[in-house]
Amino acid sequence: MRVLVLGGTTEARQLAGLLAGDARFQATLSLAGRTQVPAPQPLPTRVGGFGGAQGLVDYLRAESVQAVIDATHPFADRISANAEAACATAGVPLAVLTRRSWTAREGDDWRLVRTMDAAAGALTDLPDTVFLTVGRQELEPFLDLDRRFLVRVVDSPDILPAGAVVVLDRGPYTLDSEIALMRAHGVGTLVTKNSGGDATAAKLDAARALGLPVVMVDRPPAGTAPRFYAASDAMAWLAAHLSPTAA
Ligand code: NAP
Repeated sequence: MRVLVLGGTTEARQLAGLLAGDARFQATLSLAGRTQVPAPQPLPTRVGGFGGAQGLVDYLRAESVQAVIDATHPFADRISANAEAACATAGVPLAVLTRRSWTAREGDDWRLVRTMDAAAGALTDLPDTVFLTVGRQELEPFLDLDRRFLVRVVDSPDILPAGAVVVLDRGPYTLDSEIALMRAHGVGTLVTKNSGGDATAAKLDAARALGLPVVMVDRPPAGTAPRFYAASDAMAWLAAHLSPTAA
């Protein structure tokens, strides 16, 4: 069975590992090409956009793709919308492999917002230093704010608020290292997207331990495709779509 995995996440890499070891599937991993040094992948990989939903339809047909797993980041809403539209047009089954949202716990002080602009607006009454962990493509709303910023990103950003201190890192992080970083930079407020997952959750534990407010940007709305939270469950869904001759 020919499978396309839309990736760029830990979840996609986990699924790629399972697919690479299963002779029933001939899978390709697709990356957007945003990361300068992408992690090694266990599957044949193609890099770059398809050219919108129609470009993806053309790719699915040209490559005779029989199933698509959208394992992109929860905030990668354009490629996910394109995948829904393209799979519907091409008649290819689609499922989503993602991670569960974080939820507030006792002791958390979360300010929930829907957009990055709203996150920037919510900072008015919150203390410096503002720790931005929103990704290098989401910094624009913070550019004109006269605040002290600590910005953590995987790759160097093209734009930055004036005077921002940048930390280049990709995690995973520990509670101790997050507390140490926040203390060292005098962090007073954390800003994050609700990406979910374990690899970067320690910042929320650290904010709780230090009594810091968190501006939490909510996820974009989910589509209608079936959703899985474990690579093994996505594999089971793929296996259920195998044609009798391929099984
Ligand atoms: P996006 O806004 O949803 O997508 C923008 C465009 O990038 C898409 O229309 C598509 O171009 C191309 N694209 C995105 N993901 C692709 C993929 N896996 N394979 C081929 N083309 C892809 O996406 P984004 O938020 O910029 O994220 C880009 C990549 O980084 C994704 O793979 C995502 O999983 C990963 N990532 C994103 C975040 C985040 O916070 N957004 C965090 C970590 C990792 P065409 O229209 O030309 O096909």
